[in-house]
Amino acid sequence: MKPNKLCASCNRPAAVFQSHSGRFLCRTCFIRYVERQIRKTITKYSLIENKDLICIGVSGGKDSLVMLYNLYQRQSKIKNANKIKVIWIDEGIVGYREESKNNLLSFLNKFKIDVDLIELSFRKNFGMTLDAMVEIIRKEKLKLNPCSVCGTVRRRLLNDAAKDNKATKLAIGHNLDDTVQTLLLNLLRNDLHKVGSIKPHTSNSNPLSDVGKEFIQRIKPLIRLSDEEISLYCYFMDIPFQSNPCLYSEEFPILRKDVQSFINAISSRSHEIKYNLLKLNYELIEYLSSPKNMSEKFGRCKKCHQLTGSKRDLCLYCEYKVLFGLTNYI
Ligand code: SF4
Ligand code: ZN
Ligand code: ZN
Repeated sequence: MKPNKLCASCNRPAAVFQSHSGRFLCRTCFIRYVERQIRKTITKYSLIENKDLICIGVSGGKDSLVMLYNLYQRQSKIKNANKIKVIWIDEGIVGYREESKNNLLSFLNKFKIDVDLIELSFRKNFGMTLDAMVEIIRKEKLKLNPCSVCGTVRRRLLNDAAKDNKATKLAIGHNLDDTVQTLLLNLLRNDLHKVGSIKPHTSNSNPLSDVGKEFIQRIKPLIRLSDEEISLYCYFMDIPFQSNPCLYSEEFPILRKDVQSFINAISSRSHEIKYNLLKLNYELIEYLSSPKNMSEKFGRCKKCHQLTGSKRDLCLYCEYKVLFGLTNYI
């Protein structure tokens, strides 16, 4: 960027060019922009109420740390707000999660963030480390991607821990890129039910309903911010985050990576693409959501008796337990 450009907001020297708005911004105005987007998302979709008890799934990556920092700042201004609970999960990937734990601890220390830390692990809470499961996948040549197992187990452990801790909201660091990638993936898989479910919050807010009792409402305050904006925010705020990728993402490529490269390639030519897809996502949600569709979406797992997103006998979490010999079929 040319050094003589000025910030569109305050006229000081600019530090960043925002391609989707066509504006140059200085460091301070960029930081304010990011924080405003988070506040606006929270307000627009009523993601948080003052009495909420918020659990945050934190991996040590940039998204979860930015979310934690901003939600902590917000909660600090509320009188008698419940203390945030951070859930950190060790998947059991040797050489990977150690760095993220150190990052998380130094982040909490550096920004004087006082939260309750809940530590879980695949080994203790599911029964096997991801490394051990990958060994089995390799040995038995199973047609299974470690990321699918990892995601399923993580989601269950997060929800169970949030429920056990009486959380009313579970905050997830999904950003704009994650959202539009998921939209395209669901379209490519012809999965109409899932197309209608990528929202800033899950709709099961009624704690008296079956769904509301079993799934803690998930909120996504970063849904309007791109990967790039969140990385830049971390850089300007000096937030240390884990950047080395998990080895399994290289060894077992997933369709999401191709979709990510495709969206990034077309976005570099047309900067509105991601925001257009986000808008399309919301329009599809409105179009597809009806009470009838909602009730048809759920079945109940015959093993753990939790609600599942499909009509299969076992939920995916229990299927993996059976597959890895951690439990019998029924
Ligand atoms: Fe889990 Fe896949 Fe992420 Fe590795 S890349 S931590 S296996 S979801
Ligand atoms: Zn400025
Ligand atoms: Zn189950």
